[in-house]
Amino acid sequence: MQNNSQKRIYFDYAAGTPVSDAALKAMQPYFSEKYGNPSSLHLFGQEAQAAIDNAREVISQAIGADFREIVFTASATEANNIALRSAVIALKEKISKPKIIVSSIEHESILKTAEDLKKWNCEVVVIPVHENGAIDLKKLEEEIDENTVLVSMMYANNEIGVIEPIQDIAEIIKAKKKNNVPLFHVDAVQAFQFFDCDARKLGVDMMTLSSHKIYGPKGAGALYVRSGLKIDPQITGGGQEFGMRSGTENVPAIVGFAAAASEIIKKRSENAARLQELKEMLWKGIHEIYRAAEINGGEFKNGNILPNILNIYFPNHLSSDLLVRFDEAGIMASAGSACSMRSIEPSYVIQALGHSKERAKRSIRFSLGAPTTKEEVKEALSRLEQVF
Ligand code: PLP
Repeated sequence: MQNNSQKRIYFDYAAGTPVSDAALKAMQPYFSEKYGNPSSLHLFGQEAQAAIDNAREVISQAIGADFREIVFTASATEANNIALRSAVIALKEKISKPKIIVSSIEHESILKTAEDLKKWNCEVVVIPVHENGAIDLKKLEEEIDENTVLVSMMYANNEIGVIEPIQDIAEIIKAKKKNNVPLFHVDAVQAFQFFDCDARKLGVDMMTLSSHKIYGPKGAGALYVRSGLKIDPQITGGGQEFGMRSGTENVPAIVGFAAAASEIIKKRSENAARLQELKEMLWKGIHEIYRAAEINGGEFKNGNILPNILNIYFPNHLSSDLLVRFDEAGIMASAGSACSMRSIEPSYVIQALGHSKERAKRSIRFSLGAPTTKEEVKEALSRLEQVF
């Protein structure tokens, strides 16, 4: 049973991070002091608009983009929706049966949106991944044809942490481009905090970021849209965000997002090295306690896995039972992604690696974050020893 005096140990940073002190401080004035609507012409409106302009400058610089290439959204889910839907709608006149290519381990905001686009006479091709989670590049190359309007691939996966070779994928797409299609969209939600996401160096046309995975508040995301690219607005109205996403901007969340982004990119390598070490310590300890445990995805020492994500298969235990027992011991982890956590469906990502549904039902994700300490990992291991 959970001892109430026991400190809770959070291993679910890939689902949501605490808001950093700097982000919280930056946001504070925009709730009750500088509460103007950025579209208003008076002083309060100008203050709010200046805050958004400043945030846009910060985010655009963080990914080597221009000011006008950033569209703020309410979430990464929304940004992913805009990327897919707008590409299909904008190119519908030129290509009557548009094809979208995604990988089998994309976030649901990509997979379900692609599925939904079948209503628009869209063909959706799902590219498989190898057992370590790496996208099958040969299959991808074979599938790109003259009907392909968009390829959407994630930079790093949220459940197993695999990092995909975005520049190589961009090269494959570039070699097949005709009249600027297919477009290449990248979901960089989990990668941004650890890797350079320079849009031009990566060779992407669109890229998604999220605030609440990088120590910013919930309620803000961004879509990079390469200049010159005409996308079809999905939310119409007052014409905010250069006409690409109407609706009064969430000023405090956008300000907090930018503050968090500028902080995190300065600490990328330091955080990555520290978390990698803690993750290895956690895995070593778990493996000593539970010898049959196995890592899902690639061996993380080869650098192809995010430094903060550890996905473990516990053959003799259902993850639904384990999560409850962990929670009683004050340890918070997850099975699959946060959005699918409340459903009983076993992770499609684990199954996409070629594993059975039974293995997917017995797998748990531990994700570490900036506040994670060595002491926490040690304490978690001593509690896990009691759980098993
Ligand atoms: N893409 C990836 C890779 C994610 O991990 C998530 C959230 O878990 C999302 C998209 C959706 O992000 P948001 O919660 O901002 O909609």
